[in-house]
Amino acid sequence: MKGSGHKPSILLIYTGGTIGMMQNLNTGALEPFDFRDLLKHIPDLNGLDCSVSTISFDKPLDSSDIDPKDWTRIAHIIADNYIQYDGFVVLHGTDTMAYTASALSFMLENLSKPVILTGSQLPLGMLRTDGKENLVTAIEIASARDGDLPMIQEVCIFFENDLMRGNRTSKTSADNFNAFHSYNYPVLAHAGISIHYNLPHIYRPILRKPLKPHFVCDDHIVILKLFPGISPIVVKNILDIPHLKGVVLETYGSGNAPTASWFLDLLKEAADKGIVIVNVTQCHTGSVEMERYETGCHLSQCGVISGYDSTTESALTKLMHLFGLGLNTEEVKEYMNCSLSGEISIAH
Ligand code: ASP
Repeated sequence: MKGSGHKPSILLIYTGGTIGMMQNLNTGALEPFDFRDLLKHIPDLNGLDCSVSTISFDKPLDSSDIDPKDWTRIAHIIADNYIQYDGFVVLHGTDTMAYTASALSFMLENLSKPVILTGSQLPLGMLRTDGKENLVTAIEIASARDGDLPMIQEVCIFFENDLMRGNRTSKTSADNFNAFHSYNYPVLAHAGISIHYNLPHIYRPILRKPLKPHFVCDDHIVILKLFPGISPIVVKNILDIPHLKGVVLETYGSGNAPTASWFLDLLKEAADKGIVIVNVTQCHTGSVEMERYETGCHLSQCGVISGYDSTTESALTKLMHLFGLGLNTEEVKEYMNCSLSGEISIAH
């Protein structure tokens, strides 16, 4: 990281999504535009006090098509350019942005530079686009300094007015400009006329260690969402998936689930086989407390572990990351009980 007087350099990584579209004036259709021409399309970027370089996926993806291989591509781009740049802005479709942000927060161990994901609900090429504000503010945040250090040293999502910790964020609206929320952790910055940083809640690494990127993800994980009337055949078939290693169990309220013996027996059988079952709540806010009601107590007796106040996106990608590292059941359970990058409200 360079000293004062140096103009921050930002690498803009375009993966796809609505933000990178322009209207073809001949056909009226939305088409991805060439990101190498970004400054031509948004000359305002020249007014920012930083230099911006761009790199684009060869074939920009709708984020519904993003999978763990693409997370490793993004992690590779960041790791390969980590020394040269002061910050990274990842342009990504909104639909699965919270999954990508969560995954990157685990894959980029010892991150000490900003990685800001953003996108838009309307393409950059449309008059009412939210893309330009999101992009310009994300770049401004990625270049912000706190003395000698980058202001942000973690993976975040910036959308509309708020900067949120990536692994605390979920997409909550299909059409509002205000499309993302971080319910269980305060926003890290609010952008109005000026940008106000919420310093006590921004992550600061205790020791400065070199970036340790991980390019592995294990996809033998499922999400099992409970609903009244869920049948034995559904639960059994999911838990019997060959080579299954982890389950994110989306429960009710503070981590409650049916007490029917068929259900508890199936969970216990799976946990005894070494499948890690993590309890997260279907509620947007609050935390799992399995000891609060009898219905939750049964789950811990079956070997289900608490996901605390994790989002589903974060619990899923954390399991993928930990099993991807080749850890065994007990080791994975141990790490699920710790906060690796601020994803749950629990001491390290
Ligand atoms: N379907 C698009 C995507 O996620 C929507 C968007 O970019 O907002 O790629």
